[in-house]
Amino acid sequence: MIAHKPFGAHRRSVALFGGTFDPPHTGHVAVAQAVERRFHLDAVYFIPSSRPPHKSQRELTPFIHRYTMVALACAEHPRLIPSLAEAPAGPPHVFYTIDTVRGYHREHPDDHLYFVVGADQFLELPTWKNYEILLDSCDFIIASRPGFRLDALRLVIPPEKLGRTPSTDPHKITLRKSAVHLLATVACHVSSTEVRERIERKQSIRGLVPARVEEYILSQALYR
Ligand code: ATP
Repeated sequence: MIAHKPFGAHRRSVALFGGTFDPPHTGHVAVAQAVERRFHLDAVYFIPSSRPPHKSQRELTPFIHRYTMVALACAEHPRLIPSLAEAPAGPPHVFYTIDTVRGYHREHPDDHLYFVVGADQFLELPTWKNYEILLDSCDFIIASRPGFRLDALRLVIPPEKLGRTPSTDPHKITLRKSAVHLLATVACHVSSTEVRERIERKQSIRGLVPARVEEYILSQALYR
């Protein structure tokens, strides 16, 4: 059966941006804005993970605080949307990107989907659950991070996934079923680790996080 679209509906292009966001910082917002503009996206969903597989060593700030900070970071940007896709529900379980991406496809089968990831995280891709299937499931946008060479990222992609005709665009890797885009226009040094460490050392975090996030961190006495 053909589903009828509302009159005038277009195929939406959206990106999922997963992370711990502990806390969200100006680098995250800069990446999301650059991605939104570069790929003409209808929405960039920030998905704080209640239990990410790769960052289990450190105790995370409770989900409710991280989600609130993400919502505050997105507040001034109509196309940056906080998402509860990896909110705690039922018995504690780890969230895997492949399941989040599949869940999105199930709910919005017509949307064109990108997954945004920093260069540091993309290098870890071979440790992600079903990463080869994940590479087929959506386009990737890799945000550069100072200290990471974008050309090294190509080595992470299994050769059999590569498309037959290489892209002429140096910032695009064509895969058989999808594409990997390199976003080289943002070079922001900020990390959540640095923000947490500065607060511990009682140093200012002005400009490292959005102003509303800074206010929230101070009012809730987080990271002390
Ligand atoms: P931490 O310092 O706690 O490890 P983080 O700053 O890397 O945190 P995350 O919440 O883990 O922040 O990041 C979510 C996503 O955003 C990841 O894919 C990460 O690579 C990317 N990212 C984080 N900071 C930057 C940045 N400054 N530039 C580009 N990408 C970034």
